[in-house]
Amino acid sequence: MSDRPGVTVPIRLKLFTSEHCFACPEVETIVYQVVGSSMGDLVHISTIDVDQEQDATAKYGIYEVPTLMLNDEIVLQGSVTEDDVRDILWTRIIEEILNSEKMAELRKQNMLKITLNAMYSVSEETLVRPYIGDYVHIGTVLVTTLSLYSLDPLMPELFYIAGKEVGKYGAMQHHLSTINPRIGTSIRPKKRFQEYLKALVSYYGGVEVPYLLAENAEIKDFSEDHAIIEIKNLVTAAVKSEFTEPTCSFTAGEIAGSAEAIMGKPTICTEIACQSKGDPACVFKLELVENEDQAKRTLPPSETKHDRAERRERFFELIHEVALELQSSLLMKKRLRPKIGDFVHISALQTRIMGLKLMDEFSSTLLYSAGRELGVIGPNKGILAEIAKELNISLPAGLKDAVRIMKKYLVHPSNYLGREYSFIKMKVIDEENDEYAIQVYDYANSAGAPNLGVKFCDFFAGYLAGRIHIITDEPPIVEETQCRGTGAEYCEFLIRPME
Ligand SMILES: [Zn+2]
Ligand SMILES: [Zn+2]
Repeated sequence: MSDRPGVTVPIRLKLFTSEHCFACPEVETIVYQVVGSSMGDLVHISTIDVDQEQDATAKYGIYEVPTLMLNDEIVLQGSVTEDDVRDILWTRIIEEILNSEKMAELRKQNMLKITLNAMYSVSEETLVRPYIGDYVHIGTVLVTTLSLYSLDPLMPELFYIAGKEVGKYGAMQHHLSTINPRIGTSIRPKKRFQEYLKALVSYYGGVEVPYLLAENAEIKDFSEDHAIIEIKNLVTAAVKSEFTEPTCSFTAGEIAGSAEAIMGKPTICTEIACQSKGDPACVFKLELVENEDQAKRTLPPSETKHDRAERRERFFELIHEVALELQSSLLMKKRLRPKIGDFVHISALQTRIMGLKLMDEFSSTLLYSAGRELGVIGPNKGILAEIAKELNISLPAGLKDAVRIMKKYLVHPSNYLGREYSFIKMKVIDEENDEYAIQVYDYANSAGAPNLGVKFCDFFAGYLAGRIHIITDEPPIVEETQCRGTGAEYCEFLIRPME
């Protein structure tokens, strides 16, 4: 079963539990046993405490524990036996595997579209965002990536797969062959590998392909079946933080995927040092292997409630620190990447977020939570009060006034400098019921996206919710109702009071 080709995305099983639930410990033990004994290489369990993670609990409408969910569907609830768990999981997992092939095809097409947009954009033929250009402050990529890494242990794996698909099916190969046409004409594998590595150095470190993903790249060692690649000031590691694990598995995936496509052999790439955890550079070990089995990475261990709580605790500290660093870069007090500056092409953000969203529906909730947290604790709170004063609004304000403040806040220079979006509009949806909308044009996450029926901007929805909470002193409900990813011209966020 696990050797089935094309099955690469781990299946996420969500187990909702609570401190006060009598049946939970036993069900937890059963689920762990069943998964651990026969499905460990396919399935990853996230144990979610309903009191700790209220965004997830509200989103899925969990009123009873224990509840077991696969994707957005409840598969088991209440007390269960081992046989129940085994039966239901196997049936559902087989369905899931069949479905995952369809999803992989969808991601492939999507990556191609996004990377083609990017290719035309960097060759200056057609900008995706004609009004503000296609570069965005690295903070946007960094904060989303780092928060996902800190909130969930499966993220490195998912980012690796997304990166690998970009390397394999996106425009990256085309770039590499354009940088170094000898890749295509070298017949001997060793020579070809060498030419590939030369191109890779320009791709990440040069200005020939101006995505500005990193500042410098070097090959430290190589043989016919392995290479050590060192990359400095990579977009996902440009802020020094206290991460305990590397944070650039998307890039590792890109390297593995492009090498696989060009060398025609399975590959595996591991990040063995990372600037995010204090190393002087990010270092990637690329290996060409003989069969798919050797290219397989092991899933992280399933996560208990306790692990998860600890991880969230660390995240709250970290995001605060990172946001402050980024703010001083945004205000140009400090350059994180002295040579090339702190902006990166939007495709770096889009390939990450879209790949992830088409792989794991739970990432929506994680992105929303991370955004909301940044909204509540992030920098620039003082500006909200200044704007309120300017508009003669006393705080805490009502929802309508809060939306007025936000409209101004979002285009305040300290935010606008990041070039995350172009225009912001406000709309009254239903004054009697206190419902409003904020429309965001050219939002970096989704600008130029094909219509996939998927909304991509959960992080921003969460951020709006967090900021509005500060202004009104009440948590609002913020929901993205339209997105470029669903064919709309702009992203629209509906804001209303909690029932
Ligand atoms: Zn790194
Ligand atoms: Zn959107």
